[in-house]
Amino acid sequence: MPAAPRDLSTACVRAGQPRQDAYDAVTTPISCTSTYAFGSSAELRDHFEGRTNREEYGRYGNPTVRAAEEKLAALDGGGDACLFASGMAAVTTTLFALLKKGDHVVLTSDCYRRTRSFVQNFLARYGVEASLVPAGDLAALEAEVRPETRVIVTESPTNPYLRVADIEGIAAIKKKFPKVKVLVDSTFATPINQRPLEQGADLVIHSATKYLGGHNDLLAGVVTGDAGLVSVVRDLRGVLGGVLDPHAAYLLIRGIKTLALRVERQNRTALAVAQFLEAHPAVERVFYPGLPSHPDHELASKTMSGFGGVISFVLRTSLEGTARALDACQLATVAPSLGGVETLIEQPALMSFYELTPQERAAIGIRESLVRLAVGIEDEKDIVADLERVLATVSQATKKEVFDAALS
Ligand code: PLP
Repeated sequence: MPAAPRDLSTACVRAGQPRQDAYDAVTTPISCTSTYAFGSSAELRDHFEGRTNREEYGRYGNPTVRAAEEKLAALDGGGDACLFASGMAAVTTTLFALLKKGDHVVLTSDCYRRTRSFVQNFLARYGVEASLVPAGDLAALEAEVRPETRVIVTESPTNPYLRVADIEGIAAIKKKFPKVKVLVDSTFATPINQRPLEQGADLVIHSATKYLGGHNDLLAGVVTGDAGLVSVVRDLRGVLGGVLDPHAAYLLIRGIKTLALRVERQNRTALAVAQFLEAHPAVERVFYPGLPSHPDHELASKTMSGFGGVISFVLRTSLEGTARALDACQLATVAPSLGGVETLIEQPALMSFYELTPQERAAIGIRESLVRLAVGIEDEKDIVADLERVLATVSQATKKEVFDAALS
């Protein structure tokens, strides 16, 4: 597995240093203002003619948000970064900025559900066509690229099956089609575990709500990459208005300072938990790229410097049996989301895919007894002990069901 770039721990803490304020604060001040004063019409002219580097109005920029953007650009190795009020604001604004009527998008399957729905259903209203290709099938992806294709959207690792994209392979396809841009949602990996821009992607998106913020206390999204492309996205952000609040930007800066520490810990804990789950009789299958049983283990070992903090697994029980198991968790909290310091657990059939029928869920590969666990930074032993207790009850209930069925 490639080592994580060594300077990232330093960049987490130091990149995007605050502009010194009047009180010599070490931390980045929260610039809580919606507008910025001009001392004279000459200053206004200097601003609009690009002779000064200053803010004008809150929808176009904020110094606290800018400090966070500089930190994120440094972490991903991008020329620039643009922050948004949520991950979905980053996804939708970026795609609107890159696409117009008549264009075509190729999207790999197993992408975040709302991204898929935006590309496949919403963009269709604006005359943008989309093709969905199976994750991990480069030949199918290349076959879908047409003269009108402008963007390939992929995600790595994906939710819930943690499929890992061959970003270099996708970038090699893109090279044959100069008008195509590759956009990678790297939320599950973070800049610590995966380097999409270095592997040939044009733009990277993160839901900063997850690992970057890291404390389940903010919503944010970011796009990083080539400065020219990011500036096109930034211009549209100024029109669509999905800007990040400076208070959330402050929390994000604070969260990122411990990103490398948290992610390294979550990588270690998740691998240990995945190994524990794989050996447990109540578990039918575990999906974690750090396990040799995962279809992308080899690719992940070559291209990532850690396998991440999310594990999915299928229990040998029913929808209700799985729900009872989750209800019995004492440490893991039942909640959507991932990437924070608290371990969260969820049953996709009763969370993100609740409104679908069992048949519809089966059609898109969501098993009724599938569980997604996002490890936090608690002690690994405590996380395993919680699961061990819960899984013992699943085994007993399953034995009882089998026994009752044999008697009836
Ligand atoms: N991308 C991925 C991979 C996600 O998991 C999510 C949210 O769950 C998003 C994007 C959207 O992010 P947000 O909830 O911050 O809008």
